[in-house]
Amino acid sequence: MNERDSEQVAHSLIARGYEHVSCETDADVVLLNTCSVRDMAEQKALGKMGMLGRMAKSRPETVFGFLGCMAQARGAELLKEIPHLDLVVGTQKFHRVADYVDDVVARKRSVVGIADPGLNRMDDLRFSIVDVEEEVGSQSTIRDQSLAPKQATAFVSIMQGCNMHCTFCIVPRTRGAERSRTISEIASEVRALVARGVKEVTLLGQIVNLYGRHEFPSGAAVAGRGPSISPFVQLLEAVSAIDGLERLRFTSPHPIGFRDDLIDAISRLPKIAEHVHLPLQSGSNRILKAMHRTYTAEKYAQLVGKIRAARPGIAITTDIIVGFPGETDADFRDTMRLVEQVGYDGLYIFKYSERPGTPAARLDDDVSREEKTARFLELEQAQRRHQEKIYRRYLDREIKVLIERPSSKSEADMTGHSTCHKVVNFPAPVELLGQVARVRVTQAKSNSLYGEILSAP
Ligand code: SAH
Repeated sequence: MNERDSEQVAHSLIARGYEHVSCETDADVVLLNTCSVRDMAEQKALGKMGMLGRMAKSRPETVFGFLGCMAQARGAELLKEIPHLDLVVGTQKFHRVADYVDDVVARKRSVVGIADPGLNRMDDLRFSIVDVEEEVGSQSTIRDQSLAPKQATAFVSIMQGCNMHCTFCIVPRTRGAERSRTISEIASEVRALVARGVKEVTLLGQIVNLYGRHEFPSGAAVAGRGPSISPFVQLLEAVSAIDGLERLRFTSPHPIGFRDDLIDAISRLPKIAEHVHLPLQSGSNRILKAMHRTYTAEKYAQLVGKIRAARPGIAITTDIIVGFPGETDADFRDTMRLVEQVGYDGLYIFKYSERPGTPAARLDDDVSREEKTARFLELEQAQRRHQEKIYRRYLDREIKVLIERPSSKSEADMTGHSTCHKVVNFPAPVELLGQVARVRVTQAKSNSLYGEILSAP
């Protein structure tokens, strides 16, 4: 989501006549887009801004800004703490960044020029906190060609904010209440992307399956049979129908509201990729309840069963938090058991990080750092062993890979994803970028596959 937001801001700056430079030491304006989901992400952003401060000393006219979640949550406090910081723009004002930057550039140049120390930095600079009306419709800006000349995949934001209130999560505070764009607006953005050569889009939202539930009605079931069609499934149908689009992904859905109409869509819409990322968070019912994840481990496992029955071979990945307040060893065993039972294709494991202002922050963060690390490593090792097995199953098989970019590891290789979201590397000329190739897998690691092209269109 942050990548998408950064793209949008970069596009608006380019439209104003700014130029994108690859190295921050060449830039007149350096903006860091930030994440608040865990403390570590905030510390990284603060550390980076600190380092940039050294550059500020030799080039006082350079503009430095924080964008996004951390800016939203901490606001003016950041300006007080970081002397060289000029701009703090929250998540609701990404579309205004170019205006703010223009202003700061102009004022800063005049301040530097006349060296007037009397000007009050706080009066001059803009930062924004909540303002939701303008921004939903303003996201349809199409990416600038110069940012990614040949782009095979793209993210498309379908909604903003979140109303789920998981007790550990800061997102409702940093991104506000749930609000959705219209199907026609999203579909026309996807059509424009496809016209530029994009083959795969990922629909983005905090809880995508709840897309449009406040704004748009559910559709009637076909001939009165089957489940009614939720706005999200209507959106999947509309995007799927776009000619030239080859693959459709979405992230993240929530187990709550993952209804039969969506399962049915996964089985009947062939462009939907063979992969669902379905965040679990914990396998303990007691902890799920404390997290305000209102499903049980049993319900979750049942849902996975239904998804797999709808699309045999579909890959399932998940997010897990270890060390939530009050998590005992027995709770963690429940998680280990469920992870083993489901047999995930991939796992994102996070150590619980207390986030200010969340309901869980009122609980005692009582699992020690050492215990969190021990649980993290145990889960990670178990998953690695399991993943090696899963990846080995692809050996000698033929899979279709969307060629996305030159590999970072070898000049002769290109890299892309299979429809089941495995990273696949193989020797290929760069001209094939953006094509879907048939690849035979010749090597399997625990996190990627290696192969050779059989044919490309
Ligand atoms: N809206 C998405 C989650 C986005 S955040 C959803 O509900 O699925 C991505 C992941 O970060 C979460 O799924 C969770 O596993 C992790 N996360 C969120 N808050 C966290 C916290 N306070 N500490 C540790 N991990 C956290």
